[in-house]
Amino acid sequence: MLAICEIFYSLQGEGPFMGRPAVFVRMSGCVKPYCEFCDTPEALGQGTPMALATILKQVRSYGCSLVVITGGEPFLQWEDGLLQLSQQLLEQGMSIQYETSGRAGIPENVTGIVVLSPKPGQWPSPGIISKAHFLKPLVGDDPQITLEAIQHCGFPANRVWLMPLGRSREKQIVRMPMVWDLCVRYGYCMSPRLHILAFDQKKGI
Ligand code: SF4
Repeated sequence: MLAICEIFYSLQGEGPFMGRPAVFVRMSGCVKPYCEFCDTPEALGQGTPMALATILKQVRSYGCSLVVITGGEPFLQWEDGLLQLSQQLLEQGMSIQYETSGRAGIPENVTGIVVLSPKPGQWPSPGIISKAHFLKPLVGDDPQITLEAIQHCGFPANRVWLMPLGRSREKQIVRMPMVWDLCVRYGYCMSPRLHILAFDQKKGI
């Protein structure tokens, strides 16, 4: 059984897979203390226990080959069934992209693409960062800490996607020019958060 917050079909709104249709499996639970800017508070509870077969059936029902496993913090449940779910998804020809904050580490035996989104002031250790395929940091009004952290860990610039911090369309738009300038200056990729730009704070899209 896995603790699931929701499973739905939509577009990936951010990062290297931005704009692609995907099935989202949002796992429940995260590592305390929770972030004060958390935009998925619904994923911080206990969630609904679901059997692997039930999850697989629902994922397959959308007929989409990209599965985004997100949270909360998905890797908290790696040993409790997420590893098996991932193996079965791959065996059935699907691609997996994990969205993680790195707060629960990244498993040694992870398969699929890991997109690591460290939160401001909560950068994982170099050992965790080295297991990620892409870095997708949020940038707030004080980007210096984030920039120094990226440069300190030596992650390749062309695999860094900077995103504006902010849960509302207004905050996204206000911070986008700053993120744009930083990406131009340092050679990073820029990721707007398309779902917020399109729908503001609306849920269930
Ligand atoms: S790591 Fe993500 S899901 Fe967990 S509290 Fe922070 S923003 Fe929310």
